[in-house]
Amino acid sequence: TVPVIYAITPTYSRPVQKAELTRLANTFRQVPRLHWIVVEDSVHPTELVSRFLAGAGVTSTHLYVPTPRRYKRTGLPRATEQRNAGLAWLRQEYQRPGLRTAQPQDPTGVVFFADDDNTYSLELFQEMRTTQKVSVWPVGLVGGRRYERPVVENGKVVSWYTGWRADRPFAIDMAGFAVSLQVILSSPKAVFKRRGSQPGMQESDFLKQITKVNELEPKANNCTKVLVWHTRTEKVNLANEPKHPQDTIKIEV
Ligand code: UDP
Ligand code: MN
Repeated sequence: TVPVIYAITPTYSRPVQKAELTRLANTFRQVPRLHWIVVEDSVHPTELVSRFLAGAGVTSTHLYVPTPRRYKRTGLPRATEQRNAGLAWLRQEYQRPGLRTAQPQDPTGVVFFADDDNTYSLELFQEMRTTQKVSVWPVGLVGGRRYERPVVENGKVVSWYTGWRADRPFAIDMAGFAVSLQVILSSPKAVFKRRGSQPGMQESDFLKQITKVNELEPKANNCTKVLVWHTRTEKVNLANEPKHPQDTIKIEV
């Protein structure tokens, strides 16, 4: 059977949120056997995201967990709790096979961390679907360069082409790797860390719990093609927004 791709997307309320989710859904809707795990950074699930997912035309699971306020600071890693909530949901869903009836029985799957503002080609999903343990590929528009990529020799990752913190054990963005569900389930303690995690080290801290550099599976033609871009959306100008409602209707944007 074709492995299911589980895309874990942390998301938070802001003026561009629905636009970002719309772009993402338009991509994911075209990917066969994709299960979208959307994790809101919030105390409650919001109506906007609930309604959006109900009409998105993508198989999805809606989770939520707030980021503790002390971690909501620039320079600190983002969405740690949300990605871990996605992992916890998968582990719980697949635990004790046979004891629950409504659960998927077949743990062939691939887990991918899909931030809500990046740009994903459809080809990327074909590439990651054959992940055996942990696969890697280049990411465009990241690290202060046009791209970063794993450098591959004789089919193995030997180093990293990067312009930023080259001392990282895995010098790769969150969008640059996928992990088989089997690995996620067989390493139940592997999580994203807050404590001791410096900026840009989330990926390395996570990956070193589950793999080694020489085990990585290079995708995208031996890591020579960019199939995902670390795009970032400009902050919206709301300078002319009225202080009190002026329109005759309330409208979701
Ligand atoms: N995010 C979140 N809560 C926050 C900030 C970000 O859930 O307070 C999510 C965001 O929606 C995105 C991911 O975390 O899916 C990464 O955030 P962002 O794109 O701002 O990070 P960057 O592109 O700067 O690495
Ligand atoms: Mn981003």
